[in-house]
Amino acid sequence: MKRFTVTDFCHQFISNHIGAGAFCVDATAGNGHDTEFLCRLAGNSGRVLAFDIQPLAIKNTRDRLIRLGLDHIGTVILDSHAHLANYVSPNCADCIMFNFGYLPGGDHQMSTKPETSLSAVQQGLECLKPGGLMSLCIYSGGDTGFEEKNSLLSFVTGLDPKNYLTIVSEYANRSGNPPIPVFIFKEVR
Ligand code: SAM
Repeated sequence: MKRFTVTDFCHQFISNHIGAGAFCVDATAGNGHDTEFLCRLAGNSGRVLAFDIQPLAIKNTRDRLIRLGLDHIGTVILDSHAHLANYVSPNCADCIMFNFGYLPGGDHQMSTKPETSLSAVQQGLECLKPGGLMSLCIYSGGDTGFEEKNSLLSFVTGLDPKNYLTIVSEYANRSGNPPIPVFIFKEVR
């Protein structure tokens, strides 16, 4: 059976809705896998901004884009996604991805935090175009705890249905605390 990771799931979902020429944001660049995915989707006529607070993540993502010849599409920014609105205007992003948690192989203390994650999601929703899509990969348990998951789920499930459609998915028979993929569409009014 194919290993159907949360990343596979989010990539498949996003690629059904976002295509060439898109303006995308990777709010948690990490090692750059999602940034690479968004650059390939957006193509030469698109644009991708990727944020991370860790210099190592910025280096890994930038090196990946250069190695793959995607650095004319993606720009990597050493800043918190809590400052997203300083970089992206309202109603202009086609897709914004969040993959919360810590850098694989990196410092677990530099993980995403409930307060800044929530603020970034709120700003991201303002930045989305009508018809645009936000994806969240939410983790819990272990070093991450439950506060971030609870505050994000409480916020996204309470969004006004006139303005947003929220889809919360579930790995229903996986033990422990499986990741939770969430998709939010901004309604066209
Ligand atoms: N998308 C990544 C990839 O494809 O490799 C994986 C992301 S990793 C699970 C989470 C990342 O979020 C870490 O690299 C961490 O440094 C970053 N992060 C933590 N707090 C952040 C913040 N406030 N703003 C932006 N990135 C942050």
